[in-house]
Amino acid sequence: MSCFPHPPDYLIQGVLAGNRRVLARTITLFESRNPDHLRLAAEVLQGLAPHGGNALRLGITGVPGVGKSTLIEGMGLHLVERGHRVAVLAVDPSSRLSRGSIMGDKTRMEELSRRTEAFVRPSPSGGTLGGVAARTREAMVACEAAGFDVILVETVGVGQSETAVKGMVDFFLLLMLAGAGDELQGIKRGIMELADVVAITKADGENREPAERARKAYENALGLFRLDRHVPVVTTSALDGEGLEYLLGSLFELYDADRASGTLFERRKKQQVAWFWELVEEGLMDRFRHAPMVASLMEETVAGVEKGDLFPGHAARNLLDRFAGQKR
Ligand code: GDP
Repeated sequence: MSCFPHPPDYLIQGVLAGNRRVLARTITLFESRNPDHLRLAAEVLQGLAPHGGNALRLGITGVPGVGKSTLIEGMGLHLVERGHRVAVLAVDPSSRLSRGSIMGDKTRMEELSRRTEAFVRPSPSGGTLGGVAARTREAMVACEAAGFDVILVETVGVGQSETAVKGMVDFFLLLMLAGAGDELQGIKRGIMELADVVAITKADGENREPAERARKAYENALGLFRLDRHVPVVTTSALDGEGLEYLLGSLFELYDADRASGTLFERRKKQQVAWFWELVEEGLMDRFRHAPMVASLMEETVAGVEKGDLFPGHAARNLLDRFAGQKR
């Protein structure tokens, strides 16, 4: 058991003053699963929450190799040049270990990390998707309280993490590569339905023309099955910076329109309520599993269900009734 070396006020004041070192420590506190830290984390979060909410929150996804890090760095640098303060958070439960790039993580977005107007936080290692995503939400609140007005949340295009991140961002940017031949072969309906803007990456050199063809193909396809909103499809090159201005312009246009119409506020309200329910469910499961009158019967109950001696419905009801302290 270790005590966190800073009192809550130190962390709250440091974050509100925009101190990046204190912000990093605060996020480390949020990521800690040490039971001693939970109460402190809750107190700090409570202190910061009223100062959050003033950022454009953007999720960015695409398969490994599509050019996420390079484009995010390019977007980040572009934004800080225009007076924005940009935070980059990553949601990746596999934590890039599978890509063997712990070293790579250190050098990711190096130029952006050096800028005082930016804050780059790699993904916490390990953990469940739910856990990583929950901490990302808290990290986002801290970044906003620290005055970052654009939050970029990077996810690894595997589907599951996108759904989790969709619940905490305003918009989703989907990155795609121009494929050889059938442009739409890699299209995943679920992921396309999450997208608010699509960018065809690496549109430079010989790839410029295929990228433009892919752009048109995606635009047509999206026009057919996204009747809820127009999804801009753009081409970008992080290498020569082409398309970045247009991409960011499209995103801010969406942001301004949704703010003016109240849609943004409505969506965030729903996200807050969903977050609340997630926490309730998580807390209930945790308490249920650890309740003495449940824990003592769990093994025997599961064994009974396994053997077919107990019906799942009956067994579940029995334990839930005990948990609730009721005999029905
Ligand atoms: P991630 O795995 O999606 O984060 O992709 P990276 O940003 O690490 O990029 C993967 C590879 O594509 C790297 O070798 C980059 O140098 C290259 N790359 C990224 N963006 C561009 C681009 O705009 N143009 C070209 N030609 N190459 C790029």
